[in-house]
Amino acid sequence: MKTIETYKAEETWELGRRLGMAASAGQAYCLDGDLGAGKTVFTQGFAAGLGIEGPVSSPTFTILQIYEEGRLPLYHFDVYRIGDVEEMDEIGYEEYVYGEGVSLIEWACLIEEILPENRIQIRITRDPEKGFDYRRIEITGLEDV
Ligand code: ADP
Ligand code: MG
Repeated sequence: MKTIETYKAEETWELGRRLGMAASAGQAYCLDGDLGAGKTVFTQGFAAGLGIEGPVSSPTFTILQIYEEGRLPLYHFDVYRIGDVEEMDEIGYEEYVYGEGVSLIEWACLIEEILPENRIQIRITRDPEKGFDYRRIEITGLEDV
């Protein structure tokens, strides 16, 4: 596991951009952390790293947003409002997550039982003692960070 500390949103964005630049087809990035932790900020940087120029927001009401204008297709999931993992079948989850693009799943812990075994786990946590904008970002399953 690799731990990275950021002290402002731009640093989390930049980490995302760096990982997005290095991302390869078929990878699944599973993001966990409380509301407001920075999952979407990370995702926005990641999308920029893939060469996606348009705005990327949390697809809260659609679960899945697909971006195809980058170096690889990006499948951005936010499963915060999922009621049951079976809802994921309905949107064709497996075709995407085992497909040729890159998947990025906010709130991945909510669908733990259907996450691919071979995945990259990114957990973002706050530490009130270290300030309002501090985040600890733990990355598992990625060789070079
Ligand atoms: P999530 O998607 O995890 O619910 P967002 O990415 O939407 O969270 O929001 C994170 C919020 O926290 C943003 O308003 C961002 O500006 C702020 N923020 C402050 N410090 C950081 C940091 N170090 N990393 C990421 N976001 C930060
Ligand atoms: Mg979000």
